[in-house]
Amino acid sequence: MKKLICKNCGNSEFYVLNVGETLCKCGKRLTKLTDYQWENSQKWKDIQRRRAEIISKMSLLKREIDECLDRRDEEGFKKRTFELKLCEHFLDNSLQSPQVRLRERIKQNQDKLSF
Ligand SMILES: [Zn+2]
Repeated sequence: MKKLICKNCGNSEFYVLNVGETLCKCGKRLTKLTDYQWENSQKWKDIQRRRAEIISKMSLLKREIDECLDRRDEEGFKKRTFELKLCEHFLDNSLQSPQVRLRERIKQNQDKLSF
């Protein structure tokens, strides 16, 4: 069964404000049909699972970055900061175009950074 979900956060519960205007739990006002997205059962679940993985990876990275600072490990710090940025980037874009942009971004950065 398909449901309409918020494009911003993936929630399917909205408060109706006016005709054609709803408020999502995340605080976004949804006025146009393009503000919504059809829940695409399995694909959507995969994205949500990946997001959860990325978020837990990010908290791990943040902890490791702190450790690198303590050890004055500049290489490790740079590497993890870069990974953290990629994670953030993925989270930002995962709803619009999962993985594709991340892959592009990694490719772009591989030329600049060597590790
Ligand atoms: Zn939302």
